[in-house]
Amino acid sequence: MVGQLLTSVAIIGGGPGGLGAAIALSQLSFLQVTLYEKNPEPREAGAGISLSTNAWKVLDLLGVSDGVKGGSKSNTHQSIIKHPENSEAQSRGAIRARRTRLQSALLAKVPEGIIQYGKKLIMLEDLPTSGTRLVFEDQTETIADIVVGADGLHSIIRRTLFQGHELLFTGNSAFRVLVPKSSLAHIPEITSTTSWWWGKDGHVYLSDVDDETEFDDPLFEITVRSYCEPHVSGKTVFWGIPATNEKVGSRVEKFDQRLRDAVGAVPEGEWKEFATFAGPRLDRITGWKKVALIGDASHPLSGAFGSGATFAMEDGWILARALELTQNAAHPVEKALEIFEEIRSPYYLRMYRHLDENKAKMQQVQNENEDFNVILQSKIDTFLYGDKDFIYKNDIEEVWANYILSIGSATKKGIQAKPDLRETPAQVGIEVSSA
Ligand SMILES: Cc1cc2nc3c(=O)[nH]c(=O)nc-3n(C[C@H](O)[C@H](O)[C@H](O)COP(=O)(O)OP(=O)(O)OC[C@H]3O[C@@H](n4cnc5c(N)ncnc54)[C@H](O)[C@@H]3O)c2cc1C
Repeated sequence: MVGQLLTSVAIIGGGPGGLGAAIALSQLSFLQVTLYEKNPEPREAGAGISLSTNAWKVLDLLGVSDGVKGGSKSNTHQSIIKHPENSEAQSRGAIRARRTRLQSALLAKVPEGIIQYGKKLIMLEDLPTSGTRLVFEDQTETIADIVVGADGLHSIIRRTLFQGHELLFTGNSAFRVLVPKSSLAHIPEITSTTSWWWGKDGHVYLSDVDDETEFDDPLFEITVRSYCEPHVSGKTVFWGIPATNEKVGSRVEKFDQRLRDAVGAVPEGEWKEFATFAGPRLDRITGWKKVALIGDASHPLSGAFGSGATFAMEDGWILARALELTQNAAHPVEKALEIFEEIRSPYYLRMYRHLDENKAKMQQVQNENEDFNVILQSKIDTFLYGDKDFIYKNDIEEVWANYILSIGSATKKGIQAKPDLRETPAQVGIEVSSA
């Protein structure tokens, strides 16, 4: 690829995955990157987002950490996990940030001119000679050598590559809002810490989303999760739509008075509703030897771990490393996608397994107990203490270094590794485990 024509990359979707991929891929001089986003301008409908050690690692690698600030989550499972010694991430800990802050920090590092807004992909076609034809709703089209499907949970790229793969409504909707913290100050204990309040049919999550030293009146997040919502069709877009106070209030009727007061204190018109969908694990997250799915497009889990934005950014960073590694190989794109597949697919398999095991455990507890307190304790134990290090402590740079070590002599795979990566991962400041 080097010294020849540039390889064109079309990234579809400007969420955390697409923006992270745009930063990582545009640093490779042999690629020409364009990001196509369907919205007419940057948009982020969610409220807050949790960022843990794994997030700081990839944000550091993308060079965007400094732009992301939020409220500390000192008492949550993401921060209970011990961080690796001497890790820079340790000093920062887990935070909950406004989603718009993460988005702005990423946008600030995407090179100018590579994002095209108002470009909704409606069709993609595998061209037999080379490349993929992409057709947009505004009747324009383009051809790209590599397509990065960062188009989220309802990905058209996933549906095209894997016909028959279906998402189902989980029955679970999230109602989310950010309000000035001062507007809840009159309610005892509500804003004093990050908290979860669990009921039989749902839970409520409360958290700071701002670093209080930055704002006179920081914002505070309330998310009401309701588990037994009426069926919503997969074809309806039920994402970030307004919800009335009456509707949200009805979901917390059986909760503690302080929570009902907090929900009632939100001005009418502020709540947004998100119906969550999920789908089975994909056997592969690449297709046509030139299309890679990243983020929610690759693992439709609907925020099961509260770390999906990080997974999406990790995907993009690994894809960039793989393309960098194979740039001088025969069939460089195909090889790079194989590497991407080899590293990221098993990771998602592990997540699906983890969820299945937890679900089975909870089901057993529910079958054997009627006492809500016993069920709740079991839920809390699973939530707080289940082995989630592989998620919240994931060090994507170390994952890559281990991959390089694992291939040993890279030439075995027809890859010309960059000497600095192949010989001594320690040179890039990585402590590689023996596993
Ligand atoms: C209730 C809830 C809470 C969550 N909490 C957390 C959390 O605390 N921490 C965390 O890390 N994650 C959390 N997540 C998950 C996280 O939001 C997602 O995993 C993350 O946004 C995925 O990023 P993405 O870039 O893959 O997709 P998205 O963020 O969905 O971005 C996809 C982008 O593609 C664009 N697009 C879609 N279709 C097209 C098309 N056809 N053409 C062009 N553009 C298109 C969209 O407009 C959008 O901009 C949560 C999710 C839910 C539902």
